[in-house]
Amino acid sequence: MHKTKKIGIFLCSCGDTISQTVNYKKIIKHFNGLNEISVIEKNDFMCKPKSLIKFKKKIKDTRLESVIVAACSPQLKGSVFRKAIEEAGINYNMLSLVNLREQCAMVHREKNYATAYAIDLIESSIRRIKLNQPILSKTTKVNQTTLIIGGGFSGLQTAINLSNLGCKTILLERETSLGGSRNQSLRSTDNKMEFSLMDLIDKNIKKVNSNPLLQVFTQSELISLEGEPGNFKAVIKGKAKNKKTIRKNINIGAIVLATGCQNFFPVEKYGIEPSSQVITLSELGKLLNCKEDLKSINTVCFINGIVNDDQRLKGDKLLLRALELINKYQIQVYILCKNVYVAENGLEELYQQAREKGIVFLKYEDKKPEILLGKEGKKIKVLFIDELLVKDNVHYKEGEIIIPCDLLVLEEEIIPASGADKLSEMLQINCDDEGFYQQRNISLQPIFTNRKGIYTVGSCRGLKNINSTLDDCAMVSLEVHDLLKEKVIKYNLDRAVVDNDKCTLCLTCLRTCPHKAIQLENDAEPNQIKIAVNPLACESCGICVSCCPASAISLPGFENEQVTSEITD
Ligand code: SF4
Ligand code: SF4
Repeated sequence: MHKTKKIGIFLCSCGDTISQTVNYKKIIKHFNGLNEISVIEKNDFMCKPKSLIKFKKKIKDTRLESVIVAACSPQLKGSVFRKAIEEAGINYNMLSLVNLREQCAMVHREKNYATAYAIDLIESSIRRIKLNQPILSKTTKVNQTTLIIGGGFSGLQTAINLSNLGCKTILLERETSLGGSRNQSLRSTDNKMEFSLMDLIDKNIKKVNSNPLLQVFTQSELISLEGEPGNFKAVIKGKAKNKKTIRKNINIGAIVLATGCQNFFPVEKYGIEPSSQVITLSELGKLLNCKEDLKSINTVCFINGIVNDDQRLKGDKLLLRALELINKYQIQVYILCKNVYVAENGLEELYQQAREKGIVFLKYEDKKPEILLGKEGKKIKVLFIDELLVKDNVHYKEGEIIIPCDLLVLEEEIIPASGADKLSEMLQINCDDEGFYQQRNISLQPIFTNRKGIYTVGSCRGLKNINSTLDDCAMVSLEVHDLLKEKVIKYNLDRAVVDNDKCTLCLTCLRTCPHKAIQLENDAEPNQIKIAVNPLACESCGICVSCCPASAISLPGFENEQVTSEITD
C-alpha cells in the first residue's frame, strides 16, 4: 500500500476557542522534527478566505502529499478545507480533519488533559492518513427539469422561484385547478406587509400559467418513480381533453413534495358536533368576511390544545383570527390553552400584540374544559379549572371559572393531505408518527428527506405559517438549482462498493439502507440477479457495510485497516 511521506499539520486556534484550552506550543514541540511531518504550524481562523490562500500556498510550496487540519467539526468546515486542498493539487481524500474544538476544547476544561488528548487525536489521524489513497471522481449527465407535486401555495411559490433561477419545472396537481387552500384567507405574521394568502395564490397562478419554463398538469398524479438524483424516471397519470385517462413518461432531476395538509374536526375528542354557535378555525376564516353574521357576537372563546398532545398554538392562524375579531369588530376574545408555545417565526410578536390588544389568555391543565351548550340563541358556557386559583385564591370555588360566550371556536386536527401515505410509500420517503413527511434534521436539514434529490416544502411536514413556508420555498429552490445547474454533475467514488462474489443475496443491505441507494439489478453476463449500489443516491453512511453478514460491502476510505489504525496504537 502507498505510504505517504510528506504530511503537513495545520492547527487552527479558532479565535482562541481551541487554543485557550489546548496548548498549541506543546503540540508543535511534540510533532516537530518527526520524519514524516514536513510542516506543522498554528494559524487563526483558517477557514477565512485570506488564511485559505496562505494554506494553499504552503501546501504547494512545500509539496505536501497529505494534510491534517486540526480545527472544528468536519461537518461545519470539511467542505471548505477539502475544496482548498483540491485547489492546491491534492486529492480530497489525502486530507484528514481532526475536530479539536467540539471533541476536545469544548468538552475538556483541564488544559493538560485537553492537550494530551489533542496529541492523541492527531497521532491517530497521522496513522490513518498514511494509509489513505486518492479517491477518484466521475461525472454523469443530469436532467435539469424538476417535478413539483402539489399546486397549492408552497408548490406555486417554489415553481416561481425555480423559474426565476432559470430551471425548467413540471407542476403536478391532482385537482382540476391550481390553488390548494386558496379558499382560506390568512394574513402574514408580519403586519407591516399584510397580504392575503388568497391574493398571493391568485397572482402566483397567473405567473405560473404564463411562464414558458413551467409546465402544468392538473388532474394528474405520479404513479411510479425509478432512478436516482439527477436522473429520475417518472410516470404520471392524468386526464386528456376528451377526459380519457392518459399516462406519460417524464424524465426529471429532482422532486419537490408540496402536498400540504388538511383540517379534520375530531367530533369524538370534543364530544360535540359543529353548529352555528360552535365553529372551527377554518369556518371562522370565512365568517370574518361577513360583517352581518358577526353583528350579534360580543364574546368569542377559542379552545386550543384538546386535539393535539403537543398543545402548541398551531401556527399563526388562531392569533391572527383572534386579532381580526378584536381589531375589526371590537369583539371580546378569550383563548383557553394549556401552554403558549411561540416557537415559530413571528409568533412571539403576534402573541405580544394579542396581549396588548386585550385578548385574555387562560390556562387549563389536565382536566379538559367543559362545554355547556344552552338553548338556541343563548350563550354557551365554557367551564374550566384554573390550577393557580385552586392553590392560592380562596374567593373562587375550587378554581372553577365559567366563560359565557356567543361563539365558540374550536381547533381542528391538522393531518397530512389525503394520499400522502401512498406517495411516501411509492417514493420510499420516511414519515413521522403523525404521517407527515419526515425532515432529515429538524434544525439543519428541514427540507431534505431520507432520499437525495427529493425535497419537501411547507405544510406537508406539519402545519407551517406563511413566512416559514416562504423560507422553505426559497431554500428548496436554491438546493435544487445547486443540484441541477450544470448539465453534468461530478461525484466522488467514495460510495459503498459490493463484492458480488462474496454476496449471498440475503438482502439485509437493501432493507437497511436509509437512503434507498441499494437495488437489485440483472447482471447481463452470468444472467443472474445482483446487488448494486447507486452512487448518486448513496450518502456513504456505512450502515450497509456494518450490516452485511458476508462482509461483502466496503466503503473506500474506511477499509478495516484504516479504521483499525485510527483506534489502535
Ligand atoms: S453507505 Fe449508507 S447510503 Fe450508501 S448504500 Fe450503504 S447504507 Fe446506503
Ligand atoms: S447484506 Fe451483504 S450478503 Fe446480504 S445482500 Fe447485501 S451485500 Fe449481499
